[in-house]
Amino acid sequence: MTSEILSPQELSKIDPVFGQNSFDNHEQIVFCNDKDTGLKAIIGIHNTVLGPALGGTRMWNYANEWEALNDVLRLSRGMTFKSAITGLSLGGGKAVIIGDAKMQKTPELMKRFGEFVHSLSGKYITAEDVGMTTADMDVVREVTPYVTGISENKGGAGNPSPITAYGVFMGMKAAARFKYGSDVLENKSVYVQGIGHVGEALVEHLVNEGAEVTISDINKERLEEVRSKYGVTIYGGNDIYSEPMDIYAPCALGATINDDTVYNIKADIIAGAANNQLADEDKHGLILQNRGIVYAPDFLINAGGIINVYAELENYDRQEIMRKTENIFNTTLEILDNAKVNNLTTHAAALNIARERIETRKRENSK
Ligand code: NAD
Repeated sequence: MTSEILSPQELSKIDPVFGQNSFDNHEQIVFCNDKDTGLKAIIGIHNTVLGPALGGTRMWNYANEWEALNDVLRLSRGMTFKSAITGLSLGGGKAVIIGDAKMQKTPELMKRFGEFVHSLSGKYITAEDVGMTTADMDVVREVTPYVTGISENKGGAGNPSPITAYGVFMGMKAAARFKYGSDVLENKSVYVQGIGHVGEALVEHLVNEGAEVTISDINKERLEEVRSKYGVTIYGGNDIYSEPMDIYAPCALGATINDDTVYNIKADIIAGAANNQLADEDKHGLILQNRGIVYAPDFLINAGGIINVYAELENYDRQEIMRKTENIFNTTLEILDNAKVNNLTTHAAALNIARERIETRKRENSK
């Protein structure tokens, strides 16, 4: 953020909060600041019609505060639609902590963050996201019950990432069925971008199925680790977006499908875990549709994690978690068919159904 003082005219042009595209009628945004621990966090509560706003906390070294605000707004909005399309009684929320997770994350900072979450009295429930671990959630649990994704030995459902990966795998298979007429991924070339918690677990499913897996990550150690464990190929080029491949699986950060990449992508299918893969949902979704690239909507196929943490609130068991996650295959196929029949982008088709669920509940609630 620039340190210069902007004139009222300049500020009015920016409309930093309510005027942001990503604001999209957020119910509440909470800015959390604590000098002693260095905590700077933003909690976005997008919509609570279906239930409390549940969504993970991301810790990232944002270039500036605008970027952090924009990220949390985009992410919390996405959570609203993710829970709605998955049929969960949850609203959408998300939090970001500004800073380097490796250097600046301390138990004191996490506890202070937990206290801010607690002050919202359950309207927002947190979980892990990029830069967070199950152990961090355990620390948050010390100061608030409004946290999910805590360790199994502390009564939680544990790390949600393997379940997220399984859901992405199901969504990818559904997209393959739609595109190729078969959901078998054997011999398909799949590029997994980002081999963190979810990416690695996805690699395992793909390798077991006989796919030809290529991985990329900014973390060189992780690349070597995953390569030696699964015998996959490390991407050696410098433009993954121009590479011929069957399936592109974005599993790092969002907005990788943008003005610079959308015309270069040569994949038949895009199916990955990252949230908000389309920089501009309408524009880039439409370009993918026109180019014949099947895009499996991110918020639909990466819902395994939220299904897993929801189990902690609803007390359902592993079998039910797996059944609900496996069902992502059917939902994805339905949405892809629906988009084709109605000549919509796949993203819009999914969004319409999610919005309709929220509107229906709103009408019921107001009776
Ligand atoms: P993670 O932090 O464990 O892994 C992210 C990986 O991406 C890291 O290895 C990082 O080095 C790498 N990365 C970052 N920038 C990159 C770049 N430009 N190119 C290549 N690699 C890059 O995070 P995760 O939990 O595996 O989540 C991955 C994505 O999936 C995120 O967008 C997250 O929001 C989303 N997601 C995760 C879950 C979950 O259950 N963890 C659920 C839903 C969605």
